[in-house]
Amino acid sequence: MTAEIMKGSPVSKRIRAQIRERIESLHGKYGQVPGLAIVRAGEDPASVWYANSLKKAATKVGMHAEILALPASVSQAEFEVTLQRLNNDRTVHGIILQEPYPDHIDAERIVGLLAPEKDVDGVHPLNAGYHFLGSPRFVPATPLGGLLLLDEYGVTLKGAEAVVVGRSNIVGKPMALLLLSRHATVTICHSRTRDLGAVTRRADVLCVAVGKAGLITGDMIKPGAVVIDFGTNPVGDELKGDVDFESAVHVAGKITPVPGGTGPVTTAVLLRNVLNAFEQSLGESLTQ
Ligand code: NDP
Repeated sequence: MTAEIMKGSPVSKRIRAQIRERIESLHGKYGQVPGLAIVRAGEDPASVWYANSLKKAATKVGMHAEILALPASVSQAEFEVTLQRLNNDRTVHGIILQEPYPDHIDAERIVGLLAPEKDVDGVHPLNAGYHFLGSPRFVPATPLGGLLLLDEYGVTLKGAEAVVVGRSNIVGKPMALLLLSRHATVTICHSRTRDLGAVTRRADVLCVAVGKAGLITGDMIKPGAVVIDFGTNPVGDELKGDVDFESAVHVAGKITPVPGGTGPVTTAVLLRNVLNAFEQSLGESLTQ
């Protein structure tokens, strides 16, 4: 048996085309385009790469995007002033605060200062709270993209056994909430889970966001299960998922590849969140 490969690129392309069209039409009506600010501090290579690729993707759909590259030595006060400036800038509709932060920066305080209506990756406590309460405003793009892929490939979530491996605020926890909102029975695993394989083997839908290449092997997957792999781990010159694709593809019913699975959808969903923030600032209706 070989699993169906859940490719993200066609989904991502379609969403981006819709965003581009909508921006053109709003530009015609209001003479404005969505503005995205990406804030990063220091020179972490993955962060630099991601900021550049996001800027490129945003520009391609007709947004105005800028990267604010702060030095690793930026003080807490300087960081906060930059953020307040963006909060007050009416041409900026979405702000992405990119991890990692320099060690001396109080990240929780920074995130708390972000204007909730510009928090397009759903990291502000208010947006996380709305999601927790079942009335989501902005939801982190990576898990929202995972849900979109599940829908796209016709996966039934109602009543399904879903297992999420990883409990970060940006992927694992919001993914679990999204699955719960669709009436799946959800279990969350983490580094202290006893016998991980025994839990993952119960899953009809298995979502993995750990950051360890090949952690989940084929023998940890229930035959026919749907596997969403969020992991992006550089191994030599390659990018590997958290799931050992070679063994998993012969057991799973459907599986996302790495690269080319969840990654492209994350970017598209993030841009859609920026468009939604822009529409809200104009008083237009939501597109999602
Ligand atoms: P974090 O490091 O914040 O969280 C990792 C989670 O994995 C933690 O909850 C940790 O448990 C758990 N964990 C660690 N080791 C094990 C183990 N052996 N068994 C079970 N659970 C374990 O990572 P992120 O959530 O930010 O990212 C996870 C992965 O997703 C990374 O590869 C990252 O690059 C990728 N990612 C992908 C994106 C995309 O668009 N596809 C976007 C964002 C991230 P504990 O809480 O106990 O420490």
